[in-house]
Amino acid sequence: MTRRLTTLPTPEFAAEQPIPPDTVIGVIGAGTMGAGIAEVAACGGHPVKIFDSIPEAVTRALEKVNRSLTKSVSKGRLTPGTAAEIERRIAPVTSLFGLSDAGFVIEAVVEDLDTKKHLIQDLENILSKESIIATNTSSFSITKLAAGLVYPNRVIGMHFFNPAQIMELVEIVPGLATDSATLSITSETARAWDKIPVQTKSTPGFIVNRVARPFYAEALRLATEGSDPATIDYVMREAGQFPMGPFELMDLIGNDVNFAVTKSVFDGFYQDPRFKPSLYQQAFVEAGFLGRKTGRGFYEYGEGSSKSEPALEAQQSHPSEVWLSAGDSLTNGLLTRLRKPFPAAGRIARADADLLAMADQAIVRLTDGRTASQVASDENQPHTVLLDLAYDYEAAKAIALAPARRCSQKAYQSAVGLFQAAGYQVATFEDMPGLAAMRTVSMLINEAADTALQKVATCADIDLAMQKGTRYPAGPFQWSRKIGLRRVHTILQNLSAYYGEDRYRTSPLIKNSLWIGKQLDEP
Ligand code: NAD
Repeated sequence: MTRRLTTLPTPEFAAEQPIPPDTVIGVIGAGTMGAGIAEVAACGGHPVKIFDSIPEAVTRALEKVNRSLTKSVSKGRLTPGTAAEIERRIAPVTSLFGLSDAGFVIEAVVEDLDTKKHLIQDLENILSKESIIATNTSSFSITKLAAGLVYPNRVIGMHFFNPAQIMELVEIVPGLATDSATLSITSETARAWDKIPVQTKSTPGFIVNRVARPFYAEALRLATEGSDPATIDYVMREAGQFPMGPFELMDLIGNDVNFAVTKSVFDGFYQDPRFKPSLYQQAFVEAGFLGRKTGRGFYEYGEGSSKSEPALEAQQSHPSEVWLSAGDSLTNGLLTRLRKPFPAAGRIARADADLLAMADQAIVRLTDGRTASQVASDENQPHTVLLDLAYDYEAAKAIALAPARRCSQKAYQSAVGLFQAAGYQVATFEDMPGLAAMRTVSMLINEAADTALQKVATCADIDLAMQKGTRYPAGPFQWSRKIGLRRVHTILQNLSAYYGEDRYRTSPLIKNSLWIGKQLDEP
């Protein structure tokens, strides 16, 4: 017998509205995410029932919620009375059947496809047919999880970020069979719980876990080629204004978890080289150097461990002859800052936007995705020094430079002295294309562009998701406006020419936008 989707029951709740606060919320899986989600739903005023196949996990989750609420009280965000009331709303149940009166269930069990599929099938037999079944899966297709159900229309992805009680973003992921009422009710419920819902298609990594891949991948590639993680982290934090450097963050997430997500996205896209996992990271996983949780990852933790330091330059004397360009919208803050200690500096006529300064023999240029040695050879200027991207050159504490191989030590010291005179700490990178921040941000923009092109989410939602889900200083499309789309395009083309790999192919959306003279996020 064939069944028509239009005859399926729709959720018992009003579309475009959050579920009413007296609706029982079921949370399944009382681990890291389940505990946070139960707290969020209880804060939203709902009675919450929580189940885990390991009863002690529920006990631990309730203790965790208690600690979290106590912290909120100590910070003055909740009164002791409200905290106690929220805590009382969460009740443990000892079997799945205990959730039969739940109108909205969120599963946060282990990330295993068979476990999740069986669980959702079991729920179908236990819940009323109008209840909504949400899954917190990070990587599985919602369409696949719902396939084979009698009522696949009420299954949806509700992807919280860790820690769920703090992070605002929730990716809302309809599968092919999810109905519009389920979608709108789930989005509005997330909003009623003080979250920011962002809708995404059910494609590998959704928005955040996909668009963020280059943040790790480019750093791992640079480390594979000999760059030092501590210097990369320092530059990404102090110049790029990312809240953490990529290696620190991988150590926090766990190399095993981060590697598994990369592999899952790579496999999800049928081994697209864009997402190729790193052998460098794999070795850390194989060694059990998983990060903070094992006391060793890219860094060492615990008592007596030595801290790796970034490669920062010792103080150099000021260059005696300085020429400065006017800069463009990206670099004028930098030039303003450089001009202060060198008010008598000569002016470079603006023939070439990337040419920033001359300090004695050194020629300082903004990276364009070529290596410094390639630029030195192309421009016939052996003492070429390249500058990495900063989020805000005027305010940055540090910048990074890379000298061409044939640049003399003396010339490089003049370039270092120029930036130090303006108050920057100077980190030195080996000669590599696109340096660290410029290359990473360009690849983030490239991935975001493909994600928008494939209609996974809107540009505005991708920017919002990346800021709220990762705390990047700007969304990729905002970065693109800042850097300039033509410059991003040039960097990607140069990276692609250097490596000859499909990984660096330019998104068609970038090419199209340049041809029609629009920004990536302009309609
Ligand atoms: P976790 O290992 O901390 O907790 C999983 C819990 O599920 C465990 O307590 C386990 O006993 C329980 N469980 C396993 N099978 C079960 C079953 N059949 N019925 C009931 N309980 C069962 O895992 P986590 O980090 O909380 O992740 C849970 C889900 O959330 C996964 O799908 C994961 O991909 C997703 N997620 C995790 C994070 C994160 O940062 N940890 C972020 C977003 C999404």
